[in-house]
Amino acid sequence: MSSSPARPAVAIVGGGISGLAAAFFLRDRGLDVTVLEGAARLGGKLAVSEVAGVAVDEGAEALLARRPEGTDLIGAAGLAGELVHPGTTAAAIWTRDRVRPLPRRQLMGVPADLDELERSGILSDAGLARAREDLRLPPTPRDGDVAVASYVGARFGREVVDRLVDPLLGGVYAGRSDELSFEATLGGLAQASRRYGSLAEAAASLLPPPGAPPSGPVFTTLSGGLGTLPPAVAARSGATVRTGAMVRELARTVRADGEADGGWRLTVGPTRAPERLDADAVILAVPARPAGRLLAGLPGAGAAAAALGEIGYASMAVVTLAYPDGAFPCPPEGSGYLVPAVDGRAVKAVTFSTVKWPHLRGALPPALPPNPHLRARGGGLEIVRCSVGRVGEEALLQADDAELAGIAAADLAAATGVRGAPAATRVTRWGGALPQYTVGHAARVARIRAAVATQPGLAVCGAAYDGIGIPACIASARAAADQVLAYLRSRDARPARAGQPSVGQ
Ligand SMILES: Cc1cc2nc3c(=O)[nH]c(=O)nc-3n(C[C@H](O)[C@H](O)[C@H](O)COP(=O)(O)OP(=O)(O)OC[C@H]3O[C@@H](n4cnc5c(N)ncnc54)[C@H](O)[C@@H]3O)c2cc1C
Repeated sequence: MSSSPARPAVAIVGGGISGLAAAFFLRDRGLDVTVLEGAARLGGKLAVSEVAGVAVDEGAEALLARRPEGTDLIGAAGLAGELVHPGTTAAAIWTRDRVRPLPRRQLMGVPADLDELERSGILSDAGLARAREDLRLPPTPRDGDVAVASYVGARFGREVVDRLVDPLLGGVYAGRSDELSFEATLGGLAQASRRYGSLAEAAASLLPPPGAPPSGPVFTTLSGGLGTLPPAVAARSGATVRTGAMVRELARTVRADGEADGGWRLTVGPTRAPERLDADAVILAVPARPAGRLLAGLPGAGAAAAALGEIGYASMAVVTLAYPDGAFPCPPEGSGYLVPAVDGRAVKAVTFSTVKWPHLRGALPPALPPNPHLRARGGGLEIVRCSVGRVGEEALLQADDAELAGIAAADLAAATGVRGAPAATRVTRWGGALPQYTVGHAARVARIRAAVATQPGLAVCGAAYDGIGIPACIASARAAADQVLAYLRSRDARPARAGQPSVGQ
């Protein structure tokens, strides 16, 4: 990869969905694009592998279909024919000793219909009486960003926070509503809450009217797993895609007179055998910490590095268990259940994967692994995905794989009565997996973007900024690609640069 005015070079650091989408958006522009992924495989938080012979996602498993970016990219990557829809989206909360239906009319756990909430049995009588106060209380003043729990708690009381909002937010961010930003995690509701005194009414204003016909599936996935998307996007991007290429340093190239010449130099690979790559523009599509490390030594980028360093991450594990289908006394019906942290369980969320994604049942291979349990009742399987670990629960993740699988299986047995040991297990650890959008996140991101904008030809994208869901990551990748294209266009419109890139700082 070399920097040449004839074919400008763009380096993309990070081969998760954000970096690969950025490469895809830069295709066919006469650019020499290289994606540098530090790990041995592409995809970052998108990965798929087999459990009991069935391809099951290890990381992200459901794509929001109500935003176009994810399904559009899937179509462009040639995978539209692989899109499949959930068999059910009916979820539940395991609390107060029972698995109880999650009210339909809620927004990230914020109830829009308090009668439906009462019928769910999720709250105690006292908790429900307090929640109903939302309809009578005067508007809650709010100056700037606040924690989700503080605003929702002021409207509905603590039980709604603990038994509804916290588990739902925990399911997405593995974070705690006491710390997560209302504006950054529930932006639409935060805005609507400025127009309504009651938060239930604000939530209702964002939902379809009661009884409205369903407007198509909210989520979708790929029949081979969302983990099949990254290689397909990489193949269609036309970029050079390298794995095992850890970027350790980023510097501006300078002319012989010491002035920055507008180019970039990346140091890739191990310290004992570093490789240097030059580029005209760079997109950092890595989590906040590595992005902050790469920017830390760059003159003028200190504010971005500092703000990136403020973004914490939650670690978690996904424990996938495969049971013979007769193991459940009552076959699981909904898509799964969430578990409030206040109930003290290790598992925070359970997905009945074969119920939520019926295509997984059909995917059972003709030749099952030689495990007699799998052949029980004709070899049918229930695949269950258990998410373990919230922010601050790193000690739990010290357990070895067998222990974690045992903890998950015991929790599942307590909730569902499932009998016997799982026939197959898989433990996937996601260290530093999910960025925490804590109070002030939007201002932090604005500081990062302002400092990055002072660096010609540099852009950032990924889950750390404007949304951790896949469509939001893809949207941030498109914005980064557009920034780089605009920079290269404006640079090429200026008189040619004097001198060639030389040694980096
Ligand atoms: C368990 C789990 C379940 C999830 N479920 C869903 C879901 O169902 N739906 C949904 O929409 N979202 C889900 N998410 C969130 C979503 O998957 C992620 O936010 C998204 O995939 C992040 O993509 P990314 O490319 O921004 O970052 P990553 O996927 O983190 O990719 C960044 C890449 O950069 C690489 N890298 C880091 N440092 C360097 C360096 N110095 N040099 C080179 N490479 C480097 C990393 O190895 C990594 O591959 C889930 C996340 C997790 C962890």
